[in-house]
Amino acid sequence: MKNLNLLIAILVLSLSSHAYAGSNKGQFSQGNGNRNMQMQQLLTVEQESLLYMREEEKLARDVYLTLDEYFDTNIFTNIAAAEQRHMDRIKRLLNKYGLIDPVVDDTIGVFTNPIFSEFYDSKTNSDVAIKEAILTGILIEETDIMDLQKTIDITDNADIQNVYGNLLRGSRNHLRAFVRRLESMGIVYKASVLEQSAANAIVNSPTERGSSNKIR
Ligand code: ZN
Ligand code: ZN
Repeated sequence: MKNLNLLIAILVLSLSSHAYAGSNKGQFSQGNGNRNMQMQQLLTVEQESLLYMREEEKLARDVYLTLDEYFDTNIFTNIAAAEQRHMDRIKRLLNKYGLIDPVVDDTIGVFTNPIFSEFYDSKTNSDVAIKEAILTGILIEETDIMDLQKTIDITDNADIQNVYGNLLRGSRNHLRAFVRRLESMGIVYKASVLEQSAANAIVNSPTERGSSNKIR
């Protein structure tokens, strides 16, 4: 559990230090006339959040695809498919804004950011029990929700807000599914990243469907 908490701290720290450094750089880069129009619309902090979230979605997909190999349950199959769609949505934004995709190798478990490699390796041992696997899913979804919430507040671009809103809705549904599964094993859900009250509010509300502002 200590390692787990340390890892969460690293994940959180990493994102917030990126955001901090990014917001400083963003102010200076606005006067840079060498960039094309679309690049100028994004602050550095927005660019960095897109790159980070692209790999964070890949982390979710890759962990679930790997855990799916170990258990006779379709919870990981279904959620991994959703994570692929989340990756694709961010990829479209990277293309739109001319950002270089950090996913240079789509192989399962391969990441540019070493934080994700370490997390992947620590959570996908083949002797993992189903309870631990579900707890890993819960940890990933809580982290996703926290990171998306943080970055959605930073950006004022409607297209990014739309995509992040979509991803947030998906992550809340995934958290609901994993927690239902945990509780079906007779285990009480304890939030590890989110505030317990915020986590309970999500888990105790119904599954959300579709999107009214779907990005094509
Ligand atoms: Zn996702
Ligand atoms: Zn998810």
